[in-house]
Amino acid sequence: MMILTKKMIEIRSILQKVGQSSTLTLPSIVVIGSQSSGKSSVLEAIVGHEFLPKGSNMVTRRPIELTLVNTPKGQEEYGEFPDLGLRRITDFSSIQRTLTELNLAVPDSECVSHEPIHLTVYSPNVPDLSLIDLPGYIQVVGANQPLELKQKIAELCDKYIQPPNVILAISAADVDLANSTALRASRRVDPRGERTIGVITKMDLVDPIRGAAILNDKQYGLRLGYVGVVAKAPSTPGLFKIGHTNLMSTITKQENAYFSSHPLEFGPEAGVNVGTTTLRKKLMNVLEQTMSSSLQGTSDAIKQELEEATYEFKVQYNDRPLSAESYLAESLDAFKHSFKQFTEEFGRPQMHELLKNELDQKVLDLLAARYWNKPIEDLSPAKPDVDSIYDLPKADPDSLYWHRQLDASTSALTKLGVGRLATTVVASSIQAHIDRIIGQSTFANHPFARDAIMEATSTILNERYYSTSDQVENCIKPYKFEIDVDEREWGLGREQVGNVLKKELKDCESALGSLESAVGGRRKLKEVMGFVDKARKGDVIVEGDGRSGAGGFSAALLARGREAVFLRDRADIIKLRLMAVKSKQCAGINNKYYCPEVFLNAAASKLASTAVLFLNVELLSEFYYNFPRELDLRLGRQLAPSEVEKFAREDPRIRHHLEVIRRKELLELVLEKMESLRQLEGRERERRGGA
Ligand code: GDP
Repeated sequence: MMILTKKMIEIRSILQKVGQSSTLTLPSIVVIGSQSSGKSSVLEAIVGHEFLPKGSNMVTRRPIELTLVNTPKGQEEYGEFPDLGLRRITDFSSIQRTLTELNLAVPDSECVSHEPIHLTVYSPNVPDLSLIDLPGYIQVVGANQPLELKQKIAELCDKYIQPPNVILAISAADVDLANSTALRASRRVDPRGERTIGVITKMDLVDPIRGAAILNDKQYGLRLGYVGVVAKAPSTPGLFKIGHTNLMSTITKQENAYFSSHPLEFGPEAGVNVGTTTLRKKLMNVLEQTMSSSLQGTSDAIKQELEEATYEFKVQYNDRPLSAESYLAESLDAFKHSFKQFTEEFGRPQMHELLKNELDQKVLDLLAARYWNKPIEDLSPAKPDVDSIYDLPKADPDSLYWHRQLDASTSALTKLGVGRLATTVVASSIQAHIDRIIGQSTFANHPFARDAIMEATSTILNERYYSTSDQVENCIKPYKFEIDVDEREWGLGREQVGNVLKKELKDCESALGSLESAVGGRRKLKEVMGFVDKARKGDVIVEGDGRSGAGGFSAALLARGREAVFLRDRADIIKLRLMAVKSKQCAGINNKYYCPEVFLNAAASKLASTAVLFLNVELLSEFYYNFPRELDLRLGRQLAPSEVEKFAREDPRIRHHLEVIRRKELLELVLEKMESLRQLEGRERERRGGA
């Protein structure tokens, strides 16, 4: 009939997974006793192994929910910590170490924690039992322990000794029962002694007559009675640690020897219960009875809980099924769909535009360095301009100086590392787009998936980076020697550079505007700009380098003034060049030395077009092909079920949805098991009644 307990323990573990309400549980046996009453010794005698933490420093700080599972004869004995994922630990001293670590992890300042440790022991030698070991009651608070410790332990124990649990109250025979903390605690919650089993340890330490009297105690009468034991583990001298499987038989032998040597007090005629074997049997019977009598109540509670879960599922989620896997698959599909859309919108024209913009900036820098900039690093008089840009329109067509300027600029443009620049620009843009797509997808709420996708992106791009930039660099190589621009390209370049210059002009003007407001108005800026101009011409003497201010202007103001003068001059030059670009002189390719802006723009376009051809093959197509596959790998096949679960739970809404479904399923499962159990029990009762 023990099958009933086994099944109910199974159900109990499932209920633990449901979590939430504590009413949804089947009874367990709660072990209480004061420190050194022999509580650990009794538990170890029942299990047949030393496995509990030992030591003087309050070693039990958390409840240990111990489930014993009887396995068929001849099978290995082992323990498991399901919460830690620790399976099949056959070495019980390793279980002891783990328990010690888990307990000592509770800081000294707190001393006890309500969070239980779950341990399951499988063995052919144990009965199916569910036991809870609690910190021992203490009489005196130690020096380094918090004052409220006594209170804290009592509170923790009180939580567990509530009905329907069975209380195993441990008291030592050599302490007066009236002083037993365990019995006092049990009396408070079970005044009529209906669900308390008394265990009297250390029977060998008192006179047998007195021992027998304790077991027959009527003052603290318990319906389930007292059991006397001698559970002390034999001391283990030196290296010869006692064979673990022997603990049970050693203790049994030791008890038999002791109790049978006092037949008058403890023999069959004496009418007392003694020995750990008797205790083990009693625990089995009591637990089974308690479990079966709470079957109905628990089953009703589960039904109610199930109704609530079903209702919540209907109202909140419209009975929509969901699993972590389906959620991930749907999210991934949607994401790939958005990605597909992106691939249709991002191709050669877009890459060309990106790259051309980048090269336009480089061209502006080159123009500034070679043609436009005037030295104004300090307030000293300007050096007389030699071959300034203002002279260019009037220059001799064969002027070696202007020929060299354009050749040098072109060479700088083609040799600036277009391969790397182009690859970097496109790769970063792809990354930014992917990031945007993630932001608009369900993955936005999933840091794990976001990281996985970004990593997939950069892995593919990085793999292609060097070969792509080498290829691009190679294919623009001819331009490093010569760039031929035809009339059509010239015309296009002329139009485009006009726009670039106009935009640059606008930028200069808006920067000037910001400076104006920063110094407090146009007039003020004009004043300081006037001073900077005069200083450059040498009309005013500025002491030192003007860093500490001059002409009644602070150093900061002068710096702004210099910046404004620079911007104004740049704007003037750009206006001038805009006019030049629009003029007849720049209408045709023959005058390229007069129009470096147009020529460099046309050159930049050629570089961009050529680069894009290779970027498309080497980088973009490869990326478009590999990315969805990499996603499938990283967010699909490579993920363990626990990772999929973790992923889905990152989103609070999904987590809740999944939890409701899980709770509902677990409750349905439990209820089904309980129904069949009730039938089994009913048949068993009939059989017994009939027999
Ligand atoms: P706990 O603090 O309540 O867990 O108590 P322990 O199980 O650690 O036992 C306290 C001490 O009492 C240990 O030294 C045990 O060896 C000893 N002890 C436990 N049970 C018996 C017993 O039945 N007889 C004797 N003589 N000593 C025992």
